[in-house]
Amino acid sequence: MDKEETKMKRKYLMTPGPSPVPSFAREALSREIIHHRTPEFRQILNEVNEGLKCVFCTKNPVLIFASSGTGAMQAAVNNFFSLGDKVVAVCGGKFGERWRDIAKSFGLDVVEMEVEWGAAPAIEDLRKILDANKDVKGVFTTLCETSTATVYDIEAIGRVTKEKNLLLIVDAISGLGQDKLFPDEWAVDVVVCGSQKGFMLPPGLSFLSLSRKAQDFMKNSNLPKYYFDLNKALKSYEKEDTPYTPAVSLIVGLREVMSEISKEGIEKRWERFKMMANAAGEAARALGLEIFSKRPSASLTAIISPPGIKSSDIVKTLRKEYGVSIAAGQDSIKDKIFRIAHMGWINEQDLIMCFSLLEKVLKDLGYKFKIGASISRLQEVFYG
Ligand SMILES: *Cc1c(COP(=O)(O)O)cnc(C)c1O
Repeated sequence: MDKEETKMKRKYLMTPGPSPVPSFAREALSREIIHHRTPEFRQILNEVNEGLKCVFCTKNPVLIFASSGTGAMQAAVNNFFSLGDKVVAVCGGKFGERWRDIAKSFGLDVVEMEVEWGAAPAIEDLRKILDANKDVKGVFTTLCETSTATVYDIEAIGRVTKEKNLLLIVDAISGLGQDKLFPDEWAVDVVVCGSQKGFMLPPGLSFLSLSRKAQDFMKNSNLPKYYFDLNKALKSYEKEDTPYTPAVSLIVGLREVMSEISKEGIEKRWERFKMMANAAGEAARALGLEIFSKRPSASLTAIISPPGIKSSDIVKTLRKEYGVSIAAGQDSIKDKIFRIAHMGWINEQDLIMCFSLLEKVLKDLGYKFKIGASISRLQEVFYG
């Protein structure tokens, strides 16, 4: 039998989504399903709605949808703007491009801000674009650009968009929970997230927070919408309800994970993941490798593959031989980088295991380094 197929083989998920789901969440997910128009579910929904405000660090309502993260991204395009409205999409990777593509598909006039992959947007460049396009109504950007493992300076972007009274919409799907984000203080109007990354749940929920300003923009949008109609969703939210059948089991699971996140404290988590990101970078350098990003995220680390070795071969071998899933690059850097996630339930021990097997794979693929170098570096950072 193929090694991959046996059930005896442990699997380790270290990809930037989906990320591992802890047993306390799986237990909650497998409970008997309850009806959603009941006092029992309403109680759960209320707890979840309050908990989401804590995890998002916002006083604004956070709406929940039954979709992957992209569903809420779409909602953030067709609820605030009208046909032909001009918006800026910050494109420094795959997910910035997704903003551009969704906005174009709804007939918005998209000004693309091109950012070198692996770099964060330069604020002066954004300012220049906005000065040259006085009719821009909103800016779409990303907290952690997962395709390059880069965290953007949302606080600085927020200063510019606030000054110009624009709507600022941030995709925090991979970053939320690991990368620092204070939406209210930083003037972020809309934060979009999903369940399968920092939230430690399976894919299937998306989230979207709404500032006062966002709620005002919402009233004037003329683009077609139905399931993702935020006016309708907000009205239900205010009545402690949902417009359609919510993903009941995932919401029950969400209550469990949020209670655990709150126990640790969101700011403690930011520190812990930052430390893990720092450790992963150090471990890579101990192997003589470089990290790809100029502004590394706390949620995942992108490492440049050694010369002559395709990162997709590293990824494939790790998964086939050892059951460890990490991610290669995307698009033009597909074979150039590999990405190791440290988000949600992934912890320090997982990183030690992952680097240990990464060393084995690199050695087998012919790369020369001192065996154990990354592990002792990790140990120094974690226990030193
Ligand atoms: C994963 C991810 C998405 C896509 O989310 P889906 O849940 O696959 O729709 C969007 N943006 C970023 C930054 C991501 O990391």
